[in-house]
Amino acid sequence: MKLHVDENKCAGHALCTVIAPDLFEMDDLGKAQVIGEVTDANRLDAEDAMRECPAVAILMAEDGA
Ligand code: SF4
Repeated sequence: MKLHVDENKCAGHALCTVIAPDLFEMDDLGKAQVIGEVTDANRLDAEDAMRECPAVAILMAEDGA
């Protein structure tokens, strides 16, 4: 699975970096960026971040999709 942040939607709440700090960090422009791979260990965090993102800016796709 691959994560993607839609920078046009991201409003910079940084909530995702709190929920899944090994998957997201804020860039210099105040947008979230993906920094890690989704693994069995952090998949639930990734799904929580997607669900909790107020801007619905986090997408997850199958590898190769
Ligand atoms: S929670 Fe959503 S809107 Fe907030 S920084 Fe993360 S991706 Fe952007």
